[in-house]
Amino acid sequence: MSRFELDDLVQRLRIDAAGKAMHEQIRELYPICRSTTGDGVRETLRILGRGLPLRIVEVPSGTRALDWVVPQEWNVRAAWLKDPAGRTIADLRWSNLHLVGHSHPVRARMSLAELRPHLHSLPEHPDWIPYRSSVYRPDWGFCLPHRLLSTLLPGEYEVVIDSTLSDGSLSYGEVILPGESTDEVLLSSHVCHPSLCNDNLSGLALLSLLGRHLAGVTHRFTYRLLFAPVTIGAICWLARNESDLGRIRHGLVVTLVGDSGPITYKRSRRGNAPIDRAFAHVLAQRGPHEIRDFEPLGYDERQFCSPGFDLPVGCLMRTPHGEFPEYHTSADDLEFVTPRALEDSLAAVLAALGVLERDRCYRNLAAKGEPQLGRRGLLGSGPLASSLGRAMAWVLNLSDGQHSLLDIAERSRLPFATIHEAASALCTTDLLRPVDG
Ligand code: ZN
Repeated sequence: MSRFELDDLVQRLRIDAAGKAMHEQIRELYPICRSTTGDGVRETLRILGRGLPLRIVEVPSGTRALDWVVPQEWNVRAAWLKDPAGRTIADLRWSNLHLVGHSHPVRARMSLAELRPHLHSLPEHPDWIPYRSSVYRPDWGFCLPHRLLSTLLPGEYEVVIDSTLSDGSLSYGEVILPGESTDEVLLSSHVCHPSLCNDNLSGLALLSLLGRHLAGVTHRFTYRLLFAPVTIGAICWLARNESDLGRIRHGLVVTLVGDSGPITYKRSRRGNAPIDRAFAHVLAQRGPHEIRDFEPLGYDERQFCSPGFDLPVGCLMRTPHGEFPEYHTSADDLEFVTPRALEDSLAAVLAALGVLERDRCYRNLAAKGEPQLGRRGLLGSGPLASSLGRAMAWVLNLSDGQHSLLDIAERSRLPFATIHEAASALCTTDLLRPVDG
C-alpha cells in the first residue's frame, strides 16, 4: 500500500490503459435493459462491483422517502411491434431504446390511429431512436427512427409488451473505501439509463475504475461511491443516511464524461466549497474548460444540494445534458464516447481529488521576520528552484494556521503541486508543521 499521491496514482493507472478499460466496461454494460428499477439495474451493479466491496441496497416498492414513494419494480422479457403485413418494425432485442422505459404490459391489435400516440421519433434526426421513459405516469410506447415512422401505412398493428410492474424494490449500489479519516468524499453516478453511453455509462465506468484503484492505495478521506437511479435513488439514499451526512466534506456527481467536448464543472449550491475551488484550480491549469454556477436542474446534485441538505457536491461533465444533439438518443453510442475523453475526465477527477487529499493548514514556527532558508539548505538554483522558492515564501507567509495550501495556491497563482512541494520541503526543517484537523 502506498499513500495517495496524484502522480503516483496516475502512473499506476497508466491513464492510457484506463481509457480503454473504461470504454470496454461501457461496451459490456451497453446492451443491458435498465430503468429506474428492475433486474437490469441489479445486473449493472453486479458488473460495476467487480473488484469492489459493493453492497446492493434494496428499498421496497411503496417505501416513503422524503417527499417521494418508491415506484413498483419493472421488468421486461420481450417487446415488439408488427406492421399490418406481419413484419416486425421494432423489437427490444434490436435496441432497448425501442421500448418506452417502464411500459406496462400490452398485448393488442390496433389501428395506426390508435397506435400513433404511443409512437415517438425525432423528425430532426430521422435515423436516430429517441429515449423515453415513463416511471411515474402509467403509459406504454415505442420509439422509432422517424424515417421508419413516417412510412407506416394504415392497417392493423400487433403490439406485444411482455413486462411486469409489481411490488419489488428499487436497487442502488454503495461502496465504502475507508480512509485515514472518517471524513467522507461522496462520488455519485446515476445507474438507470438504458443503452446510452455518455449519459451515463461513462460516469459509471469512470467511478468504478476510480474505486478499484482507490481501493489499492491509502488515502486520507473515506470514499463513498454511490450508483443509484437518478432522483428517486439519490432521494432514498439521502433519506436512509441523513444522520451520517455531516461526514461529507466533498462530493461530486459524475456524468457525461465520455464525449469529445471540453470539460464542464458545475459548482455546488454553496458556490465556493473546497471541491468547487479545487476543480477551478486544476482545470485552469489543464486547458479549455468551462465552470458554471449551480442551478437546480441537471442530475442528482439537485438532491444533494437541495436546501435542507446543502451538501458541498459539484458535478463534472464534458458537454452538459441537452447541449449535444445525440443526448437521449441512439446516437449516444459506443462511438460517441472515446477512451481519450474518458481518460481526460479521469485525470481531471484525480487532479482535483489530489488537491483535496493534500490540502491542509500549516503553521510557520519562525513567523517573526523571514526565516533564513539558505542555512537550512532550502535555496536551490535554476528556474524550478525559483518557482519553488517563491512557493516557499508564500507558504511561510500565509501558514498562520488559518490558510490552507489551496488558499495559498489561489492567492499566489502558483500550481497547487508546487505549493505542496514547498510545504513538504519546509516540513523537513524546523520551520513548518501541519495543523491538526
Ligand atoms: Zn439522462
